[in-house]
Amino acid sequence: MALIVQKYGGTSVGSAERIRNVARRVADTRNAGNDVVVVVSAMGQGTDDLMALAADVTANPYPREMDMLLTAGERISMALCAMALQDQGIPAMSLTGSQAGILTTSVHGSAEIIDIRADRVRAGLDEGKVVIVAGFQGVDPVAKEVTTLGRGGSDATAVALAAAMQADVCEIYTDVDGVFTADPRVVPGAVKLDDISFEEMLELAGAGAGVLMARSVEFGRRYGIPIHVRSSFHAAEGTWVKEETMEEAIVRGVAHDSSEAKVTVHGVPDQPGVAANLFEPLAEADVNVDMIVQNVSIEGVTDISFTVPKASADRAKEIADKVAREVGAGGVDIDTNIAKVSLVGAGMKSELGIASRMFRILSDHEINIEMISTSPIRISCVVRGEDVEAAVRSLHEGFRPASSPKEE
Ligand code: ADP
Ligand code: ASP
Ligand code: MG
Repeated sequence: MALIVQKYGGTSVGSAERIRNVARRVADTRNAGNDVVVVVSAMGQGTDDLMALAADVTANPYPREMDMLLTAGERISMALCAMALQDQGIPAMSLTGSQAGILTTSVHGSAEIIDIRADRVRAGLDEGKVVIVAGFQGVDPVAKEVTTLGRGGSDATAVALAAAMQADVCEIYTDVDGVFTADPRVVPGAVKLDDISFEEMLELAGAGAGVLMARSVEFGRRYGIPIHVRSSFHAAEGTWVKEETMEEAIVRGVAHDSSEAKVTVHGVPDQPGVAANLFEPLAEADVNVDMIVQNVSIEGVTDISFTVPKASADRAKEIADKVAREVGAGGVDIDTNIAKVSLVGAGMKSELGIASRMFRILSDHEINIEMISTSPIRISCVVRGEDVEAAVRSLHEGFRPASSPKEE
């Protein structure tokens, strides 16, 4: 008998019919002799709808109240899933993140799981029940406040819970057949991967491949939990995210991300301490800075550009404006019409010339590169927002990720 954690995303629980379908799948897994813990997302676009509702009420919702509101989405689907299972004669019990013992940091909207006290989940399983946990939420044990984990956070709930319970596998049921070489909604020729390493999946997710939240992959890697990403609409195998893969690819996938904005501080005096003065208050304000580029200094002044989530752009601008005034910089610009395209592959570590090929392909398609950053297994370029889909397609065509095993 195995312990299986199954997570169902928004589309998979998007209607009463789909919830009944999820319940049938959960019942089958349980009837095959397994213990099952289920993690659910809000129904369909439920989280977006709640965010839109808040925006209709106020332009500046308090983060605490936003979390109170958004956690309601997952609470609806967990209760409906429990009802659907009970209706099929399967004992089931739903728990909020807080009831399931998911303890987090205090940052509303992007709290991190610090510990899971899964006693109630275990007790439910011991009573022969399927336990259904609301994804994307937890509780700050100090302030006793409800928190959310950031968009896509139900994936993190599922894998962290699998790790805490020492589950045999964490299954992520979603609306595509697995992890593809690029977003299949953007690249029709993208190919489903049979497996991918934690390291590569972490980079892909971090670069915008929304099929898994990056933090969930971190939990999988840290605690050695294999993650099986698969469709909730049929029973075919999906993609296994695990330590080792069959073969090392130079380019495993192409990811893109349109969720960031670029902030440029012009005319910054080129002196020691200026970058620290700028990035310290950003970090203190929980602004997550991604890429940073500093230009060559001309006559003692330079420009510094960096990218932040669009949702943090106003806060970043406010802070950058203040620092610019303090250090005597020229001014601050925000550009929200940017996107990032990335190539990821473990074989890049030992393969030369991938970056230059990437730049050539983009230039052949008249796509201008505004910023570049790399890791040992990733190259990312910032391009104009309107160019990003052409960039992903042309790079996928140029590198053909699924057919580039390293030994070729
Ligand atoms: P869920 O609600 O099940 O969590 P998400 O919308 O969060 O689903 O994630 C699934 C989506 O991720 C897919 O519909 C797809 O458009 C997108 N996606 C982006 N990159 C990839 C990729 N490399 N492979 C598969 N799906 C991807
Ligand atoms: N409902 C949340 C979101 O839409 C969490 C999740 O689905 O993983 O981001
Ligand atoms: Mg998701």
